[in-house]
Amino acid sequence: MIETEVCVVGAGPGGVSAAMFLAKMGIPSVLVDKDVFPRDKICGDGISGWVLNIMNKLNPELNKKLALEPIQLNSWGARFVAPNFNQLDVPFKNEDAIQDGLPAGFVSKRMDFDYFLFKEAKSNPLITVLEGVTIVEFKKENGFAWLHNKEGNVNIKAKLVIFANGALSQYSKLSGIKMEKKHYVAGIRTYYEGVSGMHKKNFIELHFLKELLPGYLWIFPLPNGKANVGLGMRSDKISKHKINLKEKLKEAIETVPYLKERFKDANILDEAKGFGLPLGSKKRELSGDNYMLVGDAASLIDPFTGEGIGNAMASGMYAAEHAKKCIEAKDFSAAFMKGYDKYTYNKIWKELRLSKFMQDLLNFPWLFSWVVNKAASNKTLRETISCMLTDLDVRENLKKPSFYFKLLFN
Ligand SMILES: Cc1cc2nc3c(=O)[nH]c(=O)nc-3n(C[C@H](O)[C@H](O)[C@H](O)COP(=O)(O)OP(=O)(O)OC[C@H]3O[C@@H](n4cnc5c(N)ncnc54)[C@H](O)[C@@H]3O)c2cc1C
Repeated sequence: MIETEVCVVGAGPGGVSAAMFLAKMGIPSVLVDKDVFPRDKICGDGISGWVLNIMNKLNPELNKKLALEPIQLNSWGARFVAPNFNQLDVPFKNEDAIQDGLPAGFVSKRMDFDYFLFKEAKSNPLITVLEGVTIVEFKKENGFAWLHNKEGNVNIKAKLVIFANGALSQYSKLSGIKMEKKHYVAGIRTYYEGVSGMHKKNFIELHFLKELLPGYLWIFPLPNGKANVGLGMRSDKISKHKINLKEKLKEAIETVPYLKERFKDANILDEAKGFGLPLGSKKRELSGDNYMLVGDAASLIDPFTGEGIGNAMASGMYAAEHAKKCIEAKDFSAAFMKGYDKYTYNKIWKELRLSKFMQDLLNFPWLFSWVVNKAASNKTLRETISCMLTDLDVRENLKKPSFYFKLLFN
């Protein structure tokens, strides 16, 4: 039996972030994952400047260390392709990172990126790592949490559990979180090599094709001429229109003229694999007696962009900070834990709500196409949109009718 103050279940970005921020505050933890690393995770592999900022908080040397690894490709912006096929290139603005000589964002296979983070956690003397251990039960007894694996040979007694075990977490149900198709995206991912026409500054590409709305096809450039290519769509639309994502992706690549041209000499390296994205388009309960939920287990993915790594790492950081408060107050009750929910949503709800608004905007493809058209010929608007990617107050403009009205006369 292992006894610990905090047990973190899941060693993806959310769990590693929680364990490492705990260690930074001098709090030991046990970090458990069902897989043995390196392990794959179906994802677009796009890693935003927000992740770099969180890693910087963890340890400023971490980003520099990552930059020396040949596992990532720096990216300097995003290309949006509108339903009418017009495109808009928007550079990322991440002044903090750029000042430190770091990229604004990057693309890295999760097999590599997660392993990089995992090794950092494993080498930390305050983190006890258990790999290949699937937690199948969580019980509460006498104010403690008890966890054990399916073989019954690992038993963990903890004051507090941080569940960071992803989109399929059975422990999300503790907070009443269930899969709701309107707040869930299904995505598929493939790897290609030899896709032509990539941006010279490795912009990630989001193609909002009419038949895929509200969802998009992505092409994210990887090192060595490879690319992560995938497709994501809201689950209610998939059910309503009986869509087969694998067929849709194949069809888009083979029939949309500009994609067909770009893929004509490309080779597929891996069959399409699917996974779910629980969206943060609705507020949920994120904690209860002796536990907190983090990352996908807490349904925190951005409903417009599909970004979840940053939200997972940020919530891991907030959970670690709240765990410190619980330990100091010797209070692991549901009532005390609510401070974590409040703090997390204070930090990220504004952005999630805006992203939900932008997702809703995709119900009007003509409006989206129109904004892209305007921005293509208007430098000020392009710069405004560039700021919107990082500045929430600027992004708030999207909700104001005056924003569109001004566009009419520009
Ligand atoms: C198709 C697709 C494309 C995406 N593209 C992007 C993108 O480009 N950029 C981006 O930022 N986000 C993207 N996301 C979202 C992103 O992948 C997730 O938000 C992110 O991985 C969440 O991190 P996490 O730590 O919460 O969970 P995960 O990364 O899923 O990690 C959970 C861990 O828990 C372990 N685990 C599960 N159950 C147990 C158990 N019972 N016991 C022990 N361990 C367990 C798993 O093995 C895993 O290692 C995408 C998602 C999908 C599906």
